[in-house]
Amino acid sequence: MAESAPRRLTVLGATGSIGQSTLDVVARHPDRFEVFALSAHRQHEKLLELCLQFSPQYAVMGEEAAADALARALQSAGSRTAVLCGEAALEDIAAAEPVDMVMAAIVGAAGLRPTLAAARAGKKVLLANKEALVLSGQLFMDAVKAGGATLLPIDSEHNAIFQALPANYARSPGAAGVRRVLLTASGGPFRTAALDSLAAVTPEQACAHPNWVMGRKISVDSATMMNKGLEVIEAHWLFGAPADIIEVVVHPQSVIHSMVDYADGSVIAQLGNPDMRTPIAHAMAWPERIDAGVRPLDLFEIARLDFERPDLERFPCLRLAFDALRAGGAGPAVLNAANEEAVAAFLDHRIGFLDIPAVIAACLERSGTQTVDSLDAVFAADACAREWARAEITQRTAYR
Ligand code: NDP
Ligand code: MG
Repeated sequence: MAESAPRRLTVLGATGSIGQSTLDVVARHPDRFEVFALSAHRQHEKLLELCLQFSPQYAVMGEEAAADALARALQSAGSRTAVLCGEAALEDIAAAEPVDMVMAAIVGAAGLRPTLAAARAGKKVLLANKEALVLSGQLFMDAVKAGGATLLPIDSEHNAIFQALPANYARSPGAAGVRRVLLTASGGPFRTAALDSLAAVTPEQACAHPNWVMGRKISVDSATMMNKGLEVIEAHWLFGAPADIIEVVVHPQSVIHSMVDYADGSVIAQLGNPDMRTPIAHAMAWPERIDAGVRPLDLFEIARLDFERPDLERFPCLRLAFDALRAGGAGPAVLNAANEEAVAAFLDHRIGFLDIPAVIAACLERSGTQTVDSLDAVFAADACAREWARAEITQRTAYR
């Protein structure tokens, strides 16, 4: 039993894969956690179920019609959950005074404003929404500092690195004796596929990840390895690690979730079954440890762990992400926005799998090296890159 009052939690993106895993952990520990607010974009029926199960004070929908449908259904079920709608409401439930922690699990740039609001309000921010950090980098880290927020990574790799770093780590690898950050990657569903088969792969094939069940956007990112590219940038900001000390290691079993290599030759790894409830429970309970419902790791069943160098010819997105990080300025924001547009077009059968890196590369070529030192500048770079990407996608669609 936890001794203190339950921590109050807002889950942004409650109907998604991370949102559901988060609520699974909450349900295991009703004495520790209490749901203050839940959000979804369109899936009002799924959010209704969650509201009836967790009785939050607020539920926020992205779309008006979905919000109306949810409000009606909640009312006829006798629920007291109040329904709100839109972006400002997301910021409100992230920054509200009673909230202790915010799970940032909206997918894509859409999660930036509410996640920033939580950071500015000094909440414990559980960050799954890597795109928000990639997009706004320094601004986001400044908001965390200024707001006195606690930022804990949910991405399994970054959560592993966080666990492998010293408790007093202050975003300075040199001072902590860190030589390299080793980011593991499964290689996704196409790690060994014939290169000439990639042009014709379908969204369904791209979303069939060998080790993890995730939302469709991140599943495609894993298939292109842009997910790892975004994670390199995420690691850069979270841990103050320059691009040169971040190394990607393909590890198909997804048992080692990442490692830290120290100056004395020690390499500290975090291992576990590939189940997002582990990093979620770790961050929610931190610095304590709680049951996450994850079965114990059976090393005899796993028997072996393999490692490979990433193949940048097969996975050009990984190279593009390193390029964008090294270019700095608007580079990461352009990379992320172009990727979101390209992945949506691929999922919609408008472009092929290999068009994804081509669209992103074309957008990065057009992006300058101007600094992005305000939120307006971040959103301007994002909007501009989306326009370039859409034009590029239209051109490619015309040739199909
Ligand atoms: P899902 O697609 O499963 O869920 C996304 C959630 O965001 C849903 O609740 C969705 O609502 C909501 N949403 C979608 N678009 C918007 C929008 N424009 N405005 C507000 N809310 C929106 O994604 P995942 O759970 O897989 O991923 C969430 C985040 O976590 C991503 O940033 C991903 O990179 C990261 N992550 C995920 C991992 C995983 O294992 N899944 C692992 C590591 C990181 P609705 O259901 O109504 O559409
Ligand atoms: Mg990850």
